[in-house]
Amino acid sequence: MTDYVFPPYPQASVAVKGTEARFPVRRIFCVGRNYAAHAREMGRDPDREPPFFFTKPADAVVENGVTVPYPPETENLHYEIELVVAIGKGGRNIPQEEVYDHIFGAAVGIDLTRRDLQLVAREMGRPWDWGKAFDMSAPVTAITPLADVASLEEGRIWLAVNDVVKQDADLADLIWSVKEHVSILSQSMTLEAGDLIMTGTPAGVGAVVPGDVITGGVAGLDDIRTPIGPRV
Ligand code: MN
Repeated sequence: MTDYVFPPYPQASVAVKGTEARFPVRRIFCVGRNYAAHAREMGRDPDREPPFFFTKPADAVVENGVTVPYPPETENLHYEIELVVAIGKGGRNIPQEEVYDHIFGAAVGIDLTRRDLQLVAREMGRPWDWGKAFDMSAPVTAITPLADVASLEEGRIWLAVNDVVKQDADLADLIWSVKEHVSILSQSMTLEAGDLIMTGTPAGVGAVVPGDVITGGVAGLDDIRTPIGPRV
């Protein structure tokens, strides 16, 4: 047993459907601009860019149903509904046709974004962390094991704020499919069991304010519900 100078921070984890055992989160990778209509609404040309990635800390995960306090230093907190892929077996240089062998399951997540800070960073050539990787910035549902997932390639993906639908698209609209972007990611980083990948959001992103309730889903997976609490 390693002796630490203080107790390690508790392991971040996500629920798994059908078992009391939890999925231990190692890292959270996020794909940027992976739906053409969303890339255009962010002022970018979706046809010219290879996939790119950013990250959130593992302990940014938030259990489904838990209220997220409105975070500091923003006046423009945005929702982004995303399919989340959970890696169950590590690997590097994973061929596209072997990607599913490395996937434990899938969930629904919200890539909460301090859009004002992200856009300033983008304009100034600074990292996106302050816009993307803040406390409680990654609500995620329970993971559905892959054998019970209908499809990672098609199916409705949607989000509503206070029951008004804001995002409504299909996984088939992904520019870089799960097989493609996981394979590409594994060429830059050695993926490990416990890694989560937030696969990008469709068009229709927008702001929420304290008191709003975000709901959303992906066909065949648990719906997500995330209330936004008072400012911290
Ligand atoms: Mn996103």
